[in-house]
Amino acid sequence: MPSRTLVRAKLVIPGGGAKAVANGAVLVEDGRVKAVGPRAKIDKLAKSARVVDAGRHTVMPGMINLHVHLDSLCGPDFLTAAILMSEANAIMTCVHSAQRTLRAGVTTVRDLGTKYAAAIAVRDAIIKGWVAGPRILSAGVVVCMTGGHGWFIADEADGPDDVRKTVRRNLKRGADCIKVIATGGVLSPGVEVGSSQLDPDELETAVREAHKADRKVAAHAIGNQGIKNALRAGVDTIEHGCYLDDEALALFKKTGATYVPTLCAPHFLHEHLSEVPDYARRKTKQVYEAHRASFKRALRKGIPIAAGTDAGTPFNLHELFATELQLMVALGMETEHALEAATSGAARTAGVADQTGSLEEGKSADLILVDGDPRKDIKATQRVAGVMVRGELLQT
Ligand SMILES: [Zn+2]
Repeated sequence: MPSRTLVRAKLVIPGGGAKAVANGAVLVEDGRVKAVGPRAKIDKLAKSARVVDAGRHTVMPGMINLHVHLDSLCGPDFLTAAILMSEANAIMTCVHSAQRTLRAGVTTVRDLGTKYAAAIAVRDAIIKGWVAGPRILSAGVVVCMTGGHGWFIADEADGPDDVRKTVRRNLKRGADCIKVIATGGVLSPGVEVGSSQLDPDELETAVREAHKADRKVAAHAIGNQGIKNALRAGVDTIEHGCYLDDEALALFKKTGATYVPTLCAPHFLHEHLSEVPDYARRKTKQVYEAHRASFKRALRKGIPIAAGTDAGTPFNLHELFATELQLMVALGMETEHALEAATSGAARTAGVADQTGSLEEGKSADLILVDGDPRKDIKATQRVAGVMVRGELLQT
């Protein structure tokens, strides 16, 4: 006998371009979406189903955060916390962060680098049902040049041969995607955000190796030259992209890459400037306005944009994903576009659109109940009243 759950709600937004249904229902069978539609129709299919009445809440697809660091507690000094972290501590922190993430309505995260590749073990524990958490797509350990941005959580590699070996080692660990560092960053002292880091031939090697294994490549890229190096190398996403000019935008169009702006990262640093280390304060001030301008430029040009927060950076808490959507909307994105960037668009970007991102027959039953209509009020995504991942209703 299959296990069935019927979720009824005042409004069901299936996502993925499908029409919203008033007085709708979602039938879940053995962890997957079986049917979505008007309640009168779905009720008839739902014999012996457990009924979850979402009442006045809206049902929508579970959200996807494309850029997180689950091993971080989001304190003011990322560097010191990372250096002092033991492997056991990294794993337990990932478990804790994963649960905070899930409760906020994020049913899939792409972890773009944890020390010791801790997120891989946690991903597997969640799949086995040992602990509750979202679907995790893990980049394993970040790949950077010696002394590059994030060296304290990364595998350092120099030259194409070394990069190839490092990417392969990550794939051997079980990485779902690869993260490369194309420029300096805000949270590493001694490197400038504008400077390029891994060279074009190193980036190309990383991309070739990852694509051979059918894995996506995410590039941390803030400075303009590094963004272009990464795009020319064929990366799938540019993370941060604070200095986008017309040439960079044209490269996005040409290569089909997606922009993951992570507006939350500088936003929360900017809100807590007095609490973060000097180097982080200086560089936050440097990138803040340029980053916002780059986002607007990418939006105007119609570059694909997907949502990620860089949760784990200072004060950028794992439960604050909805803030990213609010920031995108405040900078001119249509609300429905922001919802897509957080669901079906993000699933496409991460290469998991066949599994999640919209409520369609056969996909994983990853859905959330929110208070209000998020198409009209993006803040509804921060009022999460219930979460189901892989058909399991989270007990809150
Ligand atoms: Zn990051």
